[in-house]
Amino acid sequence: MKILVPLKRVPDYDTKIRVNAAGSGIETDGVKYSINPFDAIALEEAIRLREGLGDVEIVAVSIGTEECQEQLRAGMAMGADRALLVRHDASLDSLAVAKILAAVYRREQPNLVLMGKQAIDDDANQAGQMLAALLGIGQATFISKLELPKDAKQVVCCRETDAGLETVSVQLPAVITADLRLNEPRYVTALGIMKAKKKPLEEMTTADLGVDATSRTRVLSLRMAPQRKAGVRVKSVDELLQKLREEARVI
Ligand SMILES: Cc1cc2nc3c(=O)[nH]c(=O)nc-3n(C[C@H](O)[C@H](O)[C@H](O)COP(=O)(O)OP(=O)(O)OC[C@H]3O[C@@H](n4cnc5c(N)ncnc54)[C@H](O)[C@@H]3O)c2cc1C
Repeated sequence: MKILVPLKRVPDYDTKIRVNAAGSGIETDGVKYSINPFDAIALEEAIRLREGLGDVEIVAVSIGTEECQEQLRAGMAMGADRALLVRHDASLDSLAVAKILAAVYRREQPNLVLMGKQAIDDDANQAGQMLAALLGIGQATFISKLELPKDAKQVVCCRETDAGLETVSVQLPAVITADLRLNEPRYVTALGIMKAKKKPLEEMTTADLGVDATSRTRVLSLRMAPQRKAGVRVKSVDELLQKLREEARVI
């Protein structure tokens, strides 16, 4: 079995983001970058599937500049077997990402694509759904639990919805997008980092894949959310109820 796991390079979730002076993007100086946390969860799930099923190859793929090698090496240190970097220096919208991933999918023919439900830099929550639609295969999104029995042709997923939990069965091949509660990604070990240096990292361009990666959307401007008012610390539930009743008037 082969699992494809896209890993996006994003500003670390712990980094304080500032909008640049032109309002066209974020200040990148001094920003620490990491694997998108939801993608790390997807990779962790792929590794756990391999631990349970045995014969599974995990291929990590990133689209972007040469710097994405850092996240791919980190992914291989976590446990991916090999990595693909699709070099593309311009910014990409979700549809362009989905088209590139579809081309990688056709080249690799995986049984499963496990990816994050969204990237924490643009929070679009579109790439997985678009990828499944372009490929004409099944999808299950916002997954908090996944079961893939040995030799199974279907994957059983528990989806988190606003109204509760939904269990769906999806025929393979399929695109599955990971939610936060699916698992907790493991830490990378020193041995993992050493091993990752020797694992294959193949580079290609969008032209090599025959994909027109022109974005159809562009960000017109970006601004920080207004500063929130400081909260109030209460000493007891009674005091909280009193404030909700008399000051906020919500109960
Ligand atoms: C990429 C990413 C996406 C996430 N998305 C979600 C999501 O969609 N939904 C979700 O539920 N979680 C999400 N989380 C998880 C969430 O950010 C925290 O991990 C989770 O809320 C931890 O709660 P905590 O109280 O342990 O942590 P803390 O970070 O300590 O607390 C969270 C908040 O609780 C309040 N708080 C903390 N201590 C006190 C205190 N003593 N008194 C009063 N208020 C206090 C503060 O407002 C604080 O910001 C996400 C995390 C990541 C990394």
